[in-house]
Amino acid sequence: MPRLDLHLHSIHSDGRKSPEWVVQQAAANGAELIALTDHDTLSGVAEAQAEGRRRKVEVVAGVEIGVNDPDLGELHVLGYFSDDAPLHDFEAQLTAYRTERESRAERTVERLAELGLDIDFEAVARHADGGSIGRPHIARALVEAGHVESVQEAFDRFLRNDGPAYVARTLLSLRDSVAMIHAGGGFASLAHPTRYDDSERATLAFASAGGDGLEIYYRNDGPEEVANGHQLARRLGLVPTVGSDFHGLHPDELRPGSVPIPEPAAKQLLEILRGLAR
Ligand code: AMP
Ligand code: MN
Ligand code: MN
Ligand code: MN
Repeated sequence: MPRLDLHLHSIHSDGRKSPEWVVQQAAANGAELIALTDHDTLSGVAEAQAEGRRRKVEVVAGVEIGVNDPDLGELHVLGYFSDDAPLHDFEAQLTAYRTERESRAERTVERLAELGLDIDFEAVARHADGGSIGRPHIARALVEAGHVESVQEAFDRFLRNDGPAYVARTLLSLRDSVAMIHAGGGFASLAHPTRYDDSERATLAFASAGGDGLEIYYRNDGPEEVANGHQLARRLGLVPTVGSDFHGLHPDELRPGSVPIPEPAAKQLLEILRGLAR
């Protein structure tokens, strides 16, 4: 069975491992084709592709972007691109996104100070280390300052979506994000449909915004979730995609390249990704 993993994070956003390390793990697990999909950045892709050439793993340029739907809230869209895709406009949008992430992180630090939790923005920036800055980096700074015991506690008490220190991001609409991915010749898949409050409505919205794929082989989702996703994907004409959403945060996390996907679905994906517009 061919192995694919189209949802992986590295230190270029909120993952803990380098792109090289991620590719090496995927190769060790027998992966044939993977995509690095850091949040709002393509900056780790070149490094991953260089390692992919050494390890004989195809590495597709990918990204995970957050979008906003007025009814459903924040949804995540994965974009996959050919190596020579015209990504100028897309990259400009991602740069704007990352700038916005920084000011949002600063506002979160201010909000935390109001709650009596002092951390330096510099500490947060150090954890992000030049990558796409996000709440996990703020969580690490909170741990370091001794305000909480763990990253998870930081989310549970303060940073979760409806938590006291949550600051919303300004996001694209679902439709604009899909259009932008298509303008770059890319393929758009709705990330982790099972993680939304109403996965069916989220998937319907994504399909009517022109989306292409649905990440139904996701992490440890069980057979029932996969079967539901399959039905939905078939009904809406979406292509099933596969991803571990690896971040390298916990020792018991699913390793890169280890989410099973049936042969026919894998073959369909390989064909699509190898044939992306050039
Ligand atoms: P951001 O992109 O800055 O809004 O941060 C979102 C990231 O934080 C996600 O990609 C996850 O890696 C992590 N995250 C979000 N919610 C939680 C949560 N409740 N517990 C732990 N990690 C979370
Ligand atoms: Mn993340
Ligand atoms: Mn996500
Ligand atoms: Mn992800």
